[in-house]
Amino acid sequence: MQSDLKSLLGLQEDDRAIMAIDEELGALKPELAKLDELVAQLEEALARAHAELSAADGRGEELEGKIETYRVMQERRRQKLEWVRGAKEASALMAEIDLARGVLAQEETEWIRSAEEAQAIKTRAAEAEERVATEKAEQAPRRAEIASVQDECRARLKEAQAKRAETAKGINPNLLKKYGRILTGRAPYAMYELHDGACGHCFTAVPMHLRQQIQRGDTIATCEACGVIMYVSE
Ligand SMILES: [Zn+2]
Repeated sequence: MQSDLKSLLGLQEDDRAIMAIDEELGALKPELAKLDELVAQLEEALARAHAELSAADGRGEELEGKIETYRVMQERRRQKLEWVRGAKEASALMAEIDLARGVLAQEETEWIRSAEEAQAIKTRAAEAEERVATEKAEQAPRRAEIASVQDECRARLKEAQAKRAETAKGINPNLLKKYGRILTGRAPYAMYELHDGACGHCFTAVPMHLRQQIQRGDTIATCEACGVIMYVSE
């Protein structure tokens, strides 16, 4: 076998090793995504509870403002009643005070109801917060395991990439480019062994004379159908 072809096969081995580690890393992604999704759902519920709580607090404050205004107005009516002289005017004012008392009582009832609602939402928000914390705590050991596998994979990946860079140094740059171009195509690898006289990737038959050349190592031949480099192992 040509030495060029040998080094190129070495490069392919390095690339296989890198791909295998990439796959290991990729295999962790669905599980991580699922864990993230679980937390995200609970955090969404928490955010909704917080939004409801702030809306309820807003309503409560609005009602308090209203009630305070009604009280001041009611107090003014009472003071006015003390110096009103005419009986007709006084009775009109008293009717007004009675009416306002009813309105005030209604608003106060509404305020109590709103405060109770706010309290219920607050409880829900606290529960939602608890659920987020519990979920995160439950996930922590598995996440730590995954992180340590990822760290270990990344360390191996770095080594494998350094090894590949070293192998690539010993390869003719034009051949390296060719190899790179083939890898951007459809075939998962750039080099395939001849298989019963056919390309090991697409199984297109290789003409006899080309097969002989490949066997003798006279040329670095590519498959005319799919473009991969074909070789015969020794
Ligand atoms: Zn082919």
